[in-house]
Order: sequence, then C-alpha cells, then structure tokens
Amino acid sequence: MDQRFYYIAPFFTAALCILLVAFYVWPKRRVIGGHALLATCLAASLWSLCEGLLYFGFSLKTNVLITKIQYLGILPAVHASLVFVLQVFGPRSWLRPARTALLALAAAFFIALAWSNDAHFWHWSAYHLLDQGPFPMLGLSKGPTYWLMVLWCYSILLAVSLILLKQIFQGAAFYKGQALMVFLGFAMAWAANIVYVSGNSPVPNMDLGPLAFTLVAVSMAWGFFRYNLLEITPVAKDEVFNSLADAVLVVDSQNRVVDMNPAARNLLGAGLGQALGKDVLQAFQGNAQISAMLSVRDGRPRNGLDSGQSHDLQVSALKDRRGRVLGRLLVWRDVSERNRLLRELETLATTDPLTGAANRRHFMQSADNEIKRAARYGHELCFVMLDVDRFKAINDHYGHHAGDEVLRVLVAVCRSFLRESDLFGRLGGEEFGLLLVETRVDKATAIAGRLLRLLADWEVQVDKAVISFTVSMGISQWRPEEASVEPVMKRADQALYQAKQAGRNRLAVA
Ligand code: GH3
Ligand code: MG
Ligand code: MG
Repeated sequence: MDQRFYYIAPFFTAALCILLVAFYVWPKRRVIGGHALLATCLAASLWSLCEGLLYFGFSLKTNVLITKIQYLGILPAVHASLVFVLQVFGPRSWLRPARTALLALAAAFFIALAWSNDAHFWHWSAYHLLDQGPFPMLGLSKGPTYWLMVLWCYSILLAVSLILLKQIFQGAAFYKGQALMVFLGFAMAWAANIVYVSGNSPVPNMDLGPLAFTLVAVSMAWGFFRYNLLEITPVAKDEVFNSLADAVLVVDSQNRVVDMNPAARNLLGAGLGQALGKDVLQAFQGNAQISAMLSVRDGRPRNGLDSGQSHDLQVSALKDRRGRVLGRLLVWRDVSERNRLLRELETLATTDPLTGAANRRHFMQSADNEIKRAARYGHELCFVMLDVDRFKAINDHYGHHAGDEVLRVLVAVCRSFLRESDLFGRLGGEEFGLLLVETRVDKATAIAGRLLRLLADWEVQVDKAVISFTVSMGISQWRPEEASVEPVMKRADQALYQAKQAGRNRLAVA
C-alpha cells in the first residue's frame, strides 16, 4: 500500500472522530461550556483534516493553501479550548465579553498573518518541498511572527494547565475527575507540540498536534457529558443563577460547596472563592439552617421557618439519570416580604382601623381566653362596658370627622390609663369593652370611676372647636360558673342601660 496511507489515515480518522463528538455536543450546546466545546471540536477536526491532506503530495502552491486553511482550525481550537476550561473550571467572572473578544482578536491576528504571508514573509520566510521523506512534503522556514504565535499558544496551554491543576488539587471533588481527564488531554498536546516544534517527530515532519488535540476534545466532551451538574439548565443558566433573588448553594454528595450565586454570598457572608470545595459547615460556620439541612434528604429542614426568620430554606437532591445523588441544592427564599404581609394581615384582622384598638372579634376571643385562665387559677375578673354619651349630637354639631377624633382620643386615654394586662376593645360604634383582670368589683368600680372623670375632664381640639364629652359605664363581675364572656358582657350592658337611664356621665354596677 502507498506509504502515504499511514500518514493520512490517522488524521482523517481523528477528524471524523471529533466530528462525531461535535454531533453529540450539538444538542447540548446551550449548556455552560457547550459552545466552546463545539467550536473546539469543529476547529480541531479541520486542523486534522488539513494535516491529512498535506500528505497527499500536492503541488507546493496547493500545500501552502492547505496550510493557510489549517490555521483556521489550529488557532480557533486552541482559543476555544481555553474558553471552555475557563467556563467549566475557571473563575467564570474572568470571562467578560471584552476579554472573550480579545481572545478572538488574537486568533484572527495570527490567521491574518499567515494568509498575508506572501506580502511580508514574517510568518514563513520561505516555502519549499522536502525530498528526504518517503514522499515530497511541504517544508516551511519559520519567521519571527511564527515564533510569536508559538509563544502565545504556549501561554494559553500554560494558563489552561494551571487552571486545571488548581481544580485537581484544590477544587471540589466533584470536578476533580473531569479536570484530571482534560489535563491529561492537554499534557499530550504539550508533548506533541514540543516534539513537532523541536523537529523531533518520530515520523519525519508529521505534526502530532492535531492528534493530541483530538484527545483534548474527546476528554473535554467526556467530562462535559459525565459531570455537567446543571446540564438541564438552559443557555441563560449563569444569568438566571446570578441574578436570582433567592440564594442558591450547590453542594456535592459529601456536602462540599460546588457553586453558589451572589445572593447566597450576601446572605451567608462568604463568596465562592472562600467556600469552593470546602465542607459546607466549615465554610459557613454556625449557620443553624445549614446544620439543619444536613439532617434532611429532600424538602424542608425540620426546624425550618420560624416567624422571625427572613429566609426559608429548601433542600432538593440533584440526581443523575440513573438516580444517583450527585449533590444537593439549597435554596433560601426571601420571605421577609411575605412575613411582613402576614403581620399586616394579622393587624388588619385584629384591630379597628379608626382607633387602633382591638376589634370586637379579637377582643371577645382574648376575653374568652382570660376567663378560661381566671377559671383555672381562681382569679377574679370584671367587665366594663363604656359608651359615649350623646355621641350623635357631637357628630351632628362638629361633623363626623370630629366624632372620629373624639373616638381616637378616647382610645388613647383609655389605653394609657389601663394596665398592660387589662383588655380593651372597640365593640362597635362608640361602644367599648374593658376586661379588668384579677380585679374585684369594688376595685373595678373605683378604677372605672377614675377613668370616667378623667374622660369628662378631657378636651378634644378639632379645627378651632374644643370638644368635651362624657361617657357612661356598666360594670359586671364574672361568675366562676360562666364559661365565656357573653353572659358577663350582657349584664354589663344592662348596667350601662341603667346608667344611661339615670342621666348619663355615670356608672352602674350589675
Ligand atoms: P347615647 O347617649 O344614648 O349613647 O346617645 P348616642 O347619640 O351616643 O347614641 P346613638 O346610638 O343614638 O348614636 C351613636 C352614633 O354614633 C350614631 C353613629 O352615627 C355614630 N357613630 C358610630 N360609629 C361612628 C364612627 O366611627 N365615627 C363617628 N364619627 N360616628 C360614629
Ligand atoms: Mg352613645
Ligand atoms: Mg351606643
């Protein structure tokens, strides 16, 4: 068989292999690193294909053209692999659009130098056909920009290797295997390139670079399919992840931190840089919620949300297709707004909006509870029903808004007069209820009398008018056989009626 076959076959096979890899990557190109991997595969495939074509023994002119076309593979392959490694293993924040553009510009620069070589001969100083091999091959005398390109590509390989070594030694266990695979691929590329550039190819003038880069692409793809944790997430994964108001933390199966978003950094007080690869409990010492998280497989920690907490933590397992747990996802949802609304709702449900006093339902409920307590501990209780005298006349004379102000002032005065433990509420209109705890009827009568006189002396200023008002009160004592506030209140109401009948601005005891 023609000896050229042994030169051509490996490169065409490699080109075909990477094309096949690219075919499988295509549907997943939106996964993080997907586009860079796809570009690496396609470029490396072109690189290999051209290398194969160079051994056909075409004319010098054709071979030079093939070499220039090959540059469209070599430089994009090297640069795209750097982008892939940065996206998957590196500090993602480094890859800003401007820097990615700069990398593309560097690749374009060397391609342009090769294509315009005939005008300056900076890249290759001469082309010739070599005869000492088994068949004529292209020989290139290397110019200054060629060596500049070699230096640049070596810098990229060095950067890639350092990022991967950092992952292998310091990264989360989760990424170690993948990083090691890709690193071995690159190590081959290093070796092949050194052999070629130093002119020590085992087969005369054969560039093993494309074959080594095939291994790089395959190792990258292998890791890409095997490990990409969040592969289900779409193109905007990073954007969504980073802009999420919810704090998200990803840990591997050994509870080591794999990833976290800025919201998590704000909430937990440490960034990915400090936490990556560390045990989550060590990384965020003393976070009670995280400790609680470790006690659950899925769902909500047992000591989940208490009322004072502003964040609700949920935990879910991340599984691969075979159902093996790869890690866990911790999501803290900011519930401070929800809690605020709950508190607001509670206030709305329990207080009277005009005066801020307890509303009837809330007052009655609390009064029932007090009565149960009094029954249990043998305490005494008195109920006082208070009603503003001739309130209709105040409304009629000064206006409804003045009447409102009188009610607000009355509530403020009563509240400051009563003890903390007493209950006070607006029963409706201009009628109020007081429950005096641990108070016998004689003491309650004295207290009510003082409040009555205090209110009678009070003046309310509305607009330019000064309004005085009086109240009447009915007092009743709770009887131990009464299980709710209803009957006590009814007797107080009857006493109030008597006070009104007797001329108002006074109190009566049932
Ligand atoms: P009495 O001494 O017999 O209690 O006479 P009164 O005028 O106080 O009693 P009545 O029950 O006839 O009138 C109560 C008035 O209270 C009628 C109603 O318009 C007024 N009122 C009820 N709720 C409010 C309120 O929220 N704001 C104002 N400004 N007035 C109210
Ligand atoms: Mg009244
Ligand atoms: Mg009334």
